[in-house]
Amino acid sequence: MISHVSRFIDLNNRKFIIRPKPEDDELLSSWLVRVARAHLTHTTSFTNMHFKEYKANIIWQRDLDIWCPDSLIKRLSFKSGYSENIIFNMTLRSLEGIIADKITGKTNTPNIRALGNYCHIKTKGGLMYCPECLKEDKIAYFRKIWRLEKHSVCYKHNINLLDRCSNCLTPLTISKSYEEKSFVYCYKCGEKIIS
Ligand SMILES: [Zn+2]
Ligand SMILES: [Zn+2]
Repeated sequence: MISHVSRFIDLNNRKFIIRPKPEDDELLSSWLVRVARAHLTHTTSFTNMHFKEYKANIIWQRDLDIWCPDSLIKRLSFKSGYSENIIFNMTLRSLEGIIADKITGKTNTPNIRALGNYCHIKTKGGLMYCPECLKEDKIAYFRKIWRLEKHSVCYKHNINLLDRCSNCLTPLTISKSYEEKSFVYCYKCGEKIIS
């Protein structure tokens, strides 16, 4: 049962109680959603309570994986106990110099698909996924490689990556959930996005 927080609890100086291990090539946004879910709390309520300086859902209104400032990396490291390096490596900023000269998060980033932020809804399908990979995962998670423009096929399963729910055609917004389901269910219609 996910708690619906009706009263703001200040967890600003508290550490996370549960610290899921980042998976191989996992996106920061994917990991942070999993951290929130592990605490049985809605993602936005969780980050609003833990990060006073980024209240009002700011973290999810932006493209966290590109934008994540150093100050937030520090705070995530403090709260999770994982090194700043481990947190930074989950961001797409860690690919600076490899896929783009500069990744600032201020403008559209070359070679990375845009999410199309509209409030905290992602409208452009910039986060692609392989339904077979998600199905095989012991713990389902979203990969950094799925945000890269040149990468539209899963070479492991030989299928095209998908960029939206096959049922209602809504692009993914992994910080949102349908009722209390996990992010392998479309937040809009509740259909499972894995095979
Ligand atoms: Zn795959
Ligand atoms: Zn759907």
